[in-house]
Amino acid sequence: MQTFVTHLECAMTGERFAAGTVQNLSSAGKPLLVRYDLGALRRAVRKDGLGGEGFWRYAAFLPVTRAENRVSLGEVMTPLIEIGPNLLVKDEGRLPTGSFKARGLALAVAMAKELGLRHLAMPSNGNAGAALAAYAARAGLRATVFCPADTPEINLSEIEAQGAACYRVNGLIDDCGKLVGAGKAAAGWFDVSTLKEPYRIEGKKTMGLELAEQFGWSLPDVIVYPTGGGTGLIGMWKAFRELTEIGWLTGRLPRMIAVQATGCAPIVRAFEEGVEHAPRWENAATVAAGIRVPAAIGDFLILRAVRESGGTAIAVDDAAILAARDRCAREQGLLLSPEGAATLAAYEQLRAQGAIRPEERTVLFNCATGLKYPLPQVTASVDRAAPGDFARFA
Ligand SMILES: *Cc1c(COP(=O)(O)O)cnc(C)c1O
Repeated sequence: MQTFVTHLECAMTGERFAAGTVQNLSSAGKPLLVRYDLGALRRAVRKDGLGGEGFWRYAAFLPVTRAENRVSLGEVMTPLIEIGPNLLVKDEGRLPTGSFKARGLALAVAMAKELGLRHLAMPSNGNAGAALAAYAARAGLRATVFCPADTPEINLSEIEAQGAACYRVNGLIDDCGKLVGAGKAAAGWFDVSTLKEPYRIEGKKTMGLELAEQFGWSLPDVIVYPTGGGTGLIGMWKAFRELTEIGWLTGRLPRMIAVQATGCAPIVRAFEEGVEHAPRWENAATVAAGIRVPAAIGDFLILRAVRESGGTAIAVDDAAILAARDRCAREQGLLLSPEGAATLAAYEQLRAQGAIRPEERTVLFNCATGLKYPLPQVTASVDRAAPGDFARFA
């Protein structure tokens, strides 16, 4: 199988590392990005020649060299669901394990298999751990996951059920990340934290490739993305640049809008202050667990993508998030995750401010199925022996 990878490159300094070698961060302690011979890719691949299931149809843009190393659980092209005029939701909850983390972890696990790694470990707010557990089980690799103690119960259970060792930690995700880093030598695991290995982001990149194909090799005007570690946003931006470079996309790229919760908004604060890095957000708290990331190692890449695209960063509070989720479910029949609902709440605020115009085609990302989160309790009941006055059901 042909791959077009040339090398790995430090996203900060440009320092190069050989492809096909086991790597975490660069010597500057920054993320590594996979670089491709895009000229050769353009000559070898045609838009109408893509084939295969789900995101594996973009294998030419991915680093896996041997087809037998692809790890698959039946990935699908996720649908775009219209919920208003010029307003679409890309529903990533349809992927295996119910979240878009499947994209990144499928790639990370495939590359781990290719590079002969045996034991993978990561910190997780839930969805990434579940995807790692599933894909590692599928590939016959060991997985260990450290989660904040208050991670949604369903996530902890699904990690455990899918064969990984799962531990609760009395801290936040960056505290969990420190444990993974510190235990590397003694436990012998490979650190697959967000952006601390080069391949999860290549999986996330497929969101951008897929979106471009779904829009007939063009793109919407605005993308609204719930931002935690930021791999999705960075990955899509990388996809758009690569597609532009090979000539599959022409014209303006979308404005990228990073959405966070007011209880944890380090990227929004850094965007507003005009700085390149986002200091840690203390006492992070939000119902949107997937975006409760107090410090992101790819902060500068998120901020660059948002700024280069002419986008913005905005925080919404938990009340607005839950109200948007409930309204979308009741009125549209689409149950968003709280993170997805945050993008809807942000969209409404930006529309009200005039920052997004009604004629602009906008895509919101629902990164996980709403079924993974605590939902409203049902309290109404009926006594079968004495149902009472049926008029009350009218
Ligand atoms: C992980 C996650 C996010 C944040 O994604 P990043 O690309 O890491 O910023 C958003 N929503 C959900 C549901 C997630 O699981």
